[in-house]
Amino acid sequence: MTDTQTPAQRSATMRAVRGKNTRPEWAVRKVAHRMGYRYRLHVRALPGSPDLVFPIRRKILFVHGCFWHGHDCRRGAREPKSNRGYWLAKLRRNKARDADRCAALAASGWEVMIIWECEIGTVETLAARLRQFLGDARKPHIALELKEQ
Ligand SMILES: [Zn+2]
Repeated sequence: MTDTQTPAQRSATMRAVRGKNTRPEWAVRKVAHRMGYRYRLHVRALPGSPDLVFPIRRKILFVHGCFWHGHDCRRGAREPKSNRGYWLAKLRRNKARDADRCAALAASGWEVMIIWECEIGTVETLAARLRQFLGDARKPHIALELKEQ
């Protein structure tokens, strides 16, 4: 964290960063949608209101900000300079909560993938990852398409 912000400004920034519909999540949603995948967003009935839920495939995508969710990368290793103890405890709790949620989802038969903010990469690499995790985008719709013809 650079120290060019006042503590109040920094809190506001952190709140904004934590919010839904962050840019990395938008990128993932846009690519997934273009590829033909259909999903539900922020399903509150599931642990952690997962960002993207693919009910037919029983798969879930979380798009995590590296700082907030404690990714093992440069951005995730940054430490807040003010109220250090408070933030570190909070970030530790975030990480523990993420692990609990993933375990709960896996226990109910959901396959979970986390896409980290720093791993978004290009549209092509993102698309390849989505295809690998989700499988062929058109498969679940084949029956529907045949009926329409
Ligand atoms: Zn990262």
